[in-house]
Amino acid sequence: MYSTPIQKLSGTFNNNFYVKRDDLIPISFGGNKARKATLFFEDINKINSDCVVTYGSSSSNHCRIVSNIAASKGLPCYIISPLETNKETANSKMIKLFRSKVIKCPVSEVKETINNKMQELKREGYKPYFIPGGGHGDIGTQAYINTYNEIIDFEKSKGIYFDYIFHASGTGTTQAGLICGKILNTNHKKIVGISIARKNPYGGQVVLDSVNSYLKSIEKDKLDIKKIDFIDDYVLKGYGYYNKEILEIIKKMLIEEGIPLDTTYTGKAFWGMKEYIKKNKVAGENILFIHTGGTPLFFDDLEGLING
Ligand SMILES: *Cc1c(COP(=O)(O)O)cnc(C)c1O
Repeated sequence: MYSTPIQKLSGTFNNNFYVKRDDLIPISFGGNKARKATLFFEDINKINSDCVVTYGSSSSNHCRIVSNIAASKGLPCYIISPLETNKETANSKMIKLFRSKVIKCPVSEVKETINNKMQELKREGYKPYFIPGGGHGDIGTQAYINTYNEIIDFEKSKGIYFDYIFHASGTGTTQAGLICGKILNTNHKKIVGISIARKNPYGGQVVLDSVNSYLKSIEKDKLDIKKIDFIDDYVLKGYGYYNKEILEIIKKMLIEEGIPLDTTYTGKAFWGMKEYIKKNKVAGENILFIHTGGTPLFFDDLEGLING
């Protein structure tokens, strides 16, 4: 696996800011979904599956990356997609380009539609592999334990130690991986997931469940701590919603640092992080923001950035 660069920002916001560029993972525009998908495809390879089924909306980074890797390996790929979030995006156009078959259904029928497709493929003699939406599950968690280990390696080699890690939290798999990495390294960073959609208690509970599921899979004891820093103060009206400040921070980051962010994940989380730091009076600390990718979404946002 690749170790992505960590760079210092020129902007400080009263702290020393660094960004880990997981958006630069060299597969299909990178991002956390590329990290996770790489491990899922290793599993697919190991058990000799010959087609892939997954789930996500038309803006899904996960579906674009899974489609791309499946196409590169010549594996048929089926995307179950909710009718409710159906607008055309750079990601959905690429999914077409990769010739994945998109099956649309109401969100209430997703489970059934996935089951039916899996059964149908088996009847036709295929050995289908289901990748959970967003690359959720122990394999996805492992991907961010790997990231945590890369961060520890960086700290040791550069003598720079981080007090906080911030990132955009969606399904919680990325955060679960980082927390497991922290437990396995008996390390003391504060890991703060800025929720981009889910509210507590559900959002934080899913992270905790994912942590415990992973620990169980390697026969470690369940996590005792009740508190997961899954911050739901900045979700606005929910998934995909953003405000003027988010547009401003995206422009600033691109102009001053040359780093693209987007309104759904990384730009929203970066804004949430800044607000969190202000509110909690965090100052003089070494802070690492993990750029979880989503570069095609930046281009969906571009028109709005120019006009906004
Ligand atoms: C999916 C995604 C996230 C959220 O990751 P989870 O592991 O689902 O919490 C964050 N940023 C980007 C760009 C994503 O595509």
